[in-house]
Amino acid sequence: MKFKALLITSLCAVVVLLGVLVVLLAQALAADSSSSDETAPPPITEPSSSIAAVSEPPAPPRRGSHAAIPPEVRASMKGISMPEGATVSYDDLEYLTVYYHDFNYEHSEGHIIVARELAEEVLDIFAELYDIRYPIESVKLIDEFDGMKTKELDTLDRASMGNNNTSAFCYRMTGYGTLSQHSYGRAIDLNPKINPYITSNGNVSPANAKQYVSRDGTSFSEIEQAAMVHKDDAVYNIFIAHGWKWGGDWKGEKDYQHFEKRIN
Ligand SMILES: [Zn+2]
Repeated sequence: MKFKALLITSLCAVVVLLGVLVVLLAQALAADSSSSDETAPPPITEPSSSIAAVSEPPAPPRRGSHAAIPPEVRASMKGISMPEGATVSYDDLEYLTVYYHDFNYEHSEGHIIVARELAEEVLDIFAELYDIRYPIESVKLIDEFDGMKTKELDTLDRASMGNNNTSAFCYRMTGYGTLSQHSYGRAIDLNPKINPYITSNGNVSPANAKQYVSRDGTSFSEIEQAAMVHKDDAVYNIFIAHGWKWGGDWKGEKDYQHFEKRIN
């Protein structure tokens, strides 16, 4: 009897064990089929995107800044763009750091001096020129070109223009014997070699820009065409939207490089 009871107990234990195995197998199969039927959860992208954000360099600044003209810059202007007896003072002007795309479409930094009350507006204009990737060859203070005067580019203004340098303030008279808007920092000459000034009798300034008198772009390189200002183009529209006037709209003479905003 004892042996029989042990046998029954053992058989029961085997049956229970088999039952447990069957249940576990069924659960395993169910789990397997459910995972293949359901949509797989999206891969966790957070770690990889945060790694990418860390490794990417921050976007370069597009809008510059302005400050009072530093003492060393005032010293470099004295007797050059700011001649003796000038009726405009350094304190009427502001020193701007601006960002632009150069002729290789690389991010570049330059300096320009404008009327103090136009400083914020000119920073906006340069930021907008930056956004449309308008290429500018050079943005340096005009005083840096004093040593680059040649027989052909004989004045400070012509030396800067002849080197296609974009600038604003320069105390000087116009051909009509009045003070130029540049004397107040209220005019900007943009890529002035590619956008020359042509007097009503056909004189071209700078003298090395005669090939740009014709505004037909077909014979120019891509960068020359991109830098050339035309009526109603994106550059023109940026200045006009800020209330500036373009010298290319003048009757008789044409000053394609020149945008200005007079006091009234
Ligand atoms: Zn001008």
